[in-house]
Amino acid sequence: MEYVCPVCNGMATYLLRCPHCGKQMEDRGMVADFLDEYSPYLAMDITQLVDGASYDQCVHLFYCEACKHDKRISIQRIRM
Ligand SMILES: [Zn+2]
Ligand SMILES: [Zn+2]
Repeated sequence: MEYVCPVCNGMATYLLRCPHCGKQMEDRGMVADFLDEYSPYLAMDITQLVDGASYDQCVHLFYCEACKHDKRISIQRIRM
C-alpha cells in the first residue's frame, strides 16, 4: 500500500482562487521541492520533518501572479 498525492500524479487538479483578487492561483508543486534553496543539511532535516508530520498529506504551494500572494494547501494523499 502506498500513499500518493493525486495532484502530483496528474489524477486531479486542485483549483484555487486567490483570496485577494479572485484570479486562479497557479500550482507551483509540492512544498518539499522548494527546500533545495536551503543548505543540503537543512533541506534534509525539513524534508524529514514534513514527511513525518504529514504522512498522508502533500503540501502544495499556490501562487497568484497578479498580486504575488502565495498560499500552502494540504492535499490529502490517497491509497493506491
Ligand atoms: Zn502533491
Ligand atoms: Zn491575487
